[in-house]
Amino acid sequence: GRNVDSDKKLVALTFDDGPNYNTNKILDILNKYHVPATFFVLGSRIKGNEYILEKMKISGMEIGNHTYNHLLLTKYSKDKIKKEIDDTSDLIFEVTGKRPRLLRPSYGSFNKKIKSVSEMPIIIWDVDTLDWKYHNSKKITSRVVNKVRDGDIVLMHDIYSATANALNSIIPILTDMGYSFVTVSDLFYYKGITLEEGKVYGYAK
Ligand code: ZN
Repeated sequence: GRNVDSDKKLVALTFDDGPNYNTNKILDILNKYHVPATFFVLGSRIKGNEYILEKMKISGMEIGNHTYNHLLLTKYSKDKIKKEIDDTSDLIFEVTGKRPRLLRPSYGSFNKKIKSVSEMPIIIWDVDTLDWKYHNSKKITSRVVNKVRDGDIVLMHDIYSATANALNSIIPILTDMGYSFVTVSDLFYYKGITLEEGKVYGYAK
């Protein structure tokens, strides 16, 4: 449903590891600029934060699955991997009434086992802000602005305040550069790419 000028360059901002209290701040900034984004949430952080998922839904954000416990899934059995994914999708459904359509495995790590278990496309990224490392909004901003290309997926984490502050410069700068912001599903839709389950995507081009 969103109207996007297909002549414009597209970028998908993605946020991992929430929800927590800082997610609210991120949502307020995104809403202020009318920017949709995608949140890959952890099942273990949903309880007590249901209202944040509701706020995401009302704000037109896409909610993806970031597994339950943020384990390095490549080390676990197929059964355990499936449980980590399914428990999170079930909780997201309970709160929002909608099952997630995208999986971002914790640490963005995947192997044959994870690909065969996943009933969703696996979404990684090609612009890494390293916000978890820097906690510095100027560095986060410059990494995005210097690296972004049409069709990119940008990795951030909604649990840090420096990331929220960086958005206040990233959004106006990318807008000036001619970018439109879209959710991950919309990014692939507008680029004419059909996402397939168990396949890995880091960008849309
Ligand atoms: Zn993560």
